[in-house]
This record gives sequence, C-alpha cells and structure tokens, in this order.
Amino acid sequence: MSLTYVPAELRRRVRDRAKGCCEYCLVPESVTFVQHEIDHIVAEKHGGQTSAENLALSCILCNRRKGTDLTSVDPHTGQVALLFNPRKHRDGSLPVAGLAHRAADAHWPCDRATSWP
Ligand SMILES: [Zn+2]
Repeated sequence: MSLTYVPAELRRRVRDRAKGCCEYCLVPESVTFVQHEIDHIVAEKHGGQTSAENLALSCILCNRRKGTDLTSVDPHTGQVALLFNPRKHRDGSLPVAGLAHRAADAHWPCDRATSWP
C-alpha cells in the first residue's frame, strides 16, 4: 500500500511504459477483472521513492503476493533471494519468458523466490 499520493501523470507514464501489462508476470490488464495497480518496487518503508524508476505496473495478485517485501526464500536452495525487480532484472541480463519465467523451477533465484507456491 502506497503511503504517498502518486500523481495522475506519473501513473499514466508508468502504465504507458508497461504497455498495460503487469511488470512482474506480464499479464495484460485487458484480460483481468481488476485494474492493475501502481506498485513501489522498493516499498516506501524501505526508502523507496515515488519516482518512475521505482514504480511498476502490477496486477493485483503480484502486488498482494509481493507486498512490501524485498526478498523471499528460494525454494531450491532455501537461501534468501531478492525478489524479481522489473527495473534490474529485465535489462537483458535475465531471460523474460512471460508467465513461466517466475516458476518454482526457474533458473534465476529471483524468479524462484518470486514464484507462486
Ligand atoms: Zn502480475
């Protein structure tokens, strides 16, 4: 939950950049029953800013699952791993394959840690 009001123009910019798709699972808003939300990738309680760089369009399921967390347990290793960050992990250094890329058997720890149980 955002503590800070996100101005309409910034919301529109984030939504346009994401092309209407959840930046975590890539589900298009057009196929969901609930409007996607503006998510602070790094939650405000952890010092995250209300800026385009730190905001992501998120479906309600991903936003509720992620909450304000930054890490989770990698189900393969049992080690703490960073959650998927659409600004850091979608820069070409990690594969992006849509819904399947955040599966429990994914290659990258951040994808496994962010996967649905
Ligand atoms: Zn999603």
